[in-house]
Amino acid sequence: MMGDRDFRSIVENAINSIGKELEIKIDSADIQTIHLHEVVQCLRRSYYDRIDPQGIQRKGFNELLSGLLRKLQYGSDLKDFDIEDIKLKGQVDMLIDDFIFLFRGGTTDLENPLANDVLYLNACMWIYDKSDGIIIYITEDRKEISFSISRNKKMFEEIIRRVRVLNDLLKEQKTPILEPSSECSNCQYYERCFMKKKNAKQSDLAEMLGFGKKG
Ligand code: SF4
Repeated sequence: MMGDRDFRSIVENAINSIGKELEIKIDSADIQTIHLHEVVQCLRRSYYDRIDPQGIQRKGFNELLSGLLRKLQYGSDLKDFDIEDIKLKGQVDMLIDDFIFLFRGGTTDLENPLANDVLYLNACMWIYDKSDGIIIYITEDRKEISFSISRNKKMFEEIIRRVRVLNDLLKEQKTPILEPSSECSNCQYYERCFMKKKNAKQSDLAEMLGFGKKG
């Protein structure tokens, strides 16, 4: 707190507003169009984002980098890939010659690219019909860590499978199963996924001990 102003919350609000402006807009009702970022992250999270969304708290300007580059359109337009009657839409951060670039915020101890970034980049290589791509992580101390990747068909087939699963579940209005991972700790739906279960268990226990039911 400095004077009357809480500068931390002003900066957080600014980051969240810019982030909202930069995020890929999804028409929730159009379930025949699935966006690539929806299937590289937890499907349950993507389902909630469409059906009953809750805003996310962004951690820093690093997280805005990819959106800023997409907005400036460094050689990349949103592209479609048809999977029968479903359209998979993807967009790379940068396209130079035949190379696809993704930029992400990262930490200095990163030894391998994150799995969902690899899945995203690999799918983009199929969508844009390119064979090579690079993920560049920008760390908080402004260092770059890069990983180059060649395209892999099996990995893309897994993305196609996930597109179909999400499309089916949206059609049937069925919530996808939990996909517990390190993503959960930063997910806005953590309480919805885990805390209710904990409460349910507590009430089960209360019932078992004879406190929960009357009569
Ligand atoms: S908390 Fe985990 S399982 Fe639940 S929606 Fe988020 S990422 Fe998915």
